[in-house]
Parts: sequence; structure tokens; C-alpha cells
Amino acid sequence: MNSLRDLLQQAQQSGAAVGHFNISDLVLLKAVFAAARELNVPVLVGLSEGEREFVGVRQIAAFVQSLREELNFPIFLNADHTRSLAKAAEAAKAGFDSIVFDLSALPFQENVRQTKQAVETLKAINPSILVEGEIGDIGTGSEIHDAAPDLSKRLSSPEEAKQFVESTGVDILAPAVGNMHGMLRSMVQGETKKRLDVERISGIKRAARVFLTLHGGSGTDDADLRKAIAAGINIVHINTELRVAWRSGLERGLAKQPDEVVPYKILPSAVEAVKQVVASRLKLFAGERHAAQGI
Ligand SMILES: [Zn+2]
Repeated sequence: MNSLRDLLQQAQQSGAAVGHFNISDLVLLKAVFAAARELNVPVLVGLSEGEREFVGVRQIAAFVQSLREELNFPIFLNADHTRSLAKAAEAAKAGFDSIVFDLSALPFQENVRQTKQAVETLKAINPSILVEGEIGDIGTGSEIHDAAPDLSKRLSSPEEAKQFVESTGVDILAPAVGNMHGMLRSMVQGETKKRLDVERISGIKRAARVFLTLHGGSGTDDADLRKAIAAGINIVHINTELRVAWRSGLERGLAKQPDEVVPYKILPSAVEAVKQVVASRLKLFAGERHAAQGI
């Protein structure tokens, strides 16, 4: 089995990005895994601190590892938005493949200092773990927002990206390039789309020379996502779109069978709804390689 680092490298060479999907229950995990297997592309599942709290850190690690080993399939596990070294170390010890260490809310120099320390600590636990650092402001909460926060003042520059990567030793960088966590109501309805600063991504890639993650990918214009991947984005995070599909699929399952109480008869509607979203995003991220394989 290739390592996550190798897969990111391969994806980069073929003009593709690896999809990262947040999960907080078995419905979401089943949906992501099924979509990735059908399309035969590697996939990352991620859990934020809140999502890990709900599912169990060691329990989800055991679950994902069993899927990976039983089916020899490249599914990897990421500790998303981890804000303390203790929580990051807990995930690393449980066997997570990568850690998003997010101190982007702190002043830049403090973010650098503590992220560098986290890289050292986490690599001592597992030398092959990938550590991602965060700079700039992309908002918080993978939820539906009524109004867009003004994030324009804290977009990332190529200079600070370079300085951050060189000072901390992170393997992956998450910049602020027009992306935003969560979705506006108008985006859920499909009336508006997020737009990305592709020039900025190119500049950051040239300066920082590491893998780049795009957070808050939900509701982003498809063409912008393809351009962002061509400009150097290696991982795209999708969460809110899945949550919206999870809820509507669940509501459909309940409405279809108003007297049913058997979970495994109700929940497939939710799995199917989420799986469709994941599959369409994975196809987009796979790009030319995908087309070349004729999938
Ligand atoms: Zn994120």
C-alpha cells in the first residue's frame, strides 16, 4: 500500500487532488468509502475535534484501519482542525495518518512557534505522519451561515506561506485563498458559488513548495476548483455539502417509511444522498486522470 505522501505526489503529477470528507457517523463513512471504491480513487476521511469527541478517537482509527486492510484500499484518516498539542498527540498515537494543527487564530509568530513544536512532537510519535499547518482566516463552522464574514484582510501571501513552511517544517499548508468554512444559504440553494483566487494559489505554491490543502470547499464553483488543483491544491475538504445531504437523505428515509423503526432500513437513504455528493466531487477532483481511466 502506498503511503499518503506517495499518493499525494502521484495525484499532483497527474493533475488530480485527493478528496477529504468529514465524517461523524457510520452513514457518512459508508457513503465516502463506497463512492471512493466505485471510482477507485484514494480518499481521506477527516474528523475535527468535535467530530472525534462524538465518534471516539481510537474507535474511528480502528474502523478506518480495518476497512483499509480488509479491502487493501487507500482510505486515510486525518485529524482535522486540532487546536491543542495534547489532542494532536492523542490522534497521532491512535494511528491517524495526518494532523491538521490549526493555530491560525493566533498571531503569526506564535502560530509558527507552536506549530514547529507540534511538528517535532508528532513526528517523534510517528515519523511518517503528515502535519498540516494553517495560516490566514477562512472562518469557522462547517454550517449554514446567514451572512458571509469579511475574510479579505487575512488572505495568505506567498511570502508568509514560504516563511511559515520553512520555519515550521510542515508537510502540508492550508492557505486562505478566497475559501471559507461553511456555506451561505444561497449556496445551499445553488444560487451563488464561492470563488477562489487562483493566482494567489499559484504564487503560494511556487513560494512554499509543499502540498496545499483547500479547506471549506463546499459550495465552490466547479471550474474554480479545477483551476485551483491545476495551480497546486493537493487536498480539497468538503464537509457542509455532506452534512446538508445527510440531513435531507435522512428526512427522506423517515418520510418514506413513517412507521419504520429499524435503523438499517431508514439510513440507506442518507448513505445514498451523501454518496452522490462525494462521487460527484471525487470525479471533479480526479480530473484528467479520471477521464483517462474512462471511469
Ligand atoms: Zn477546514
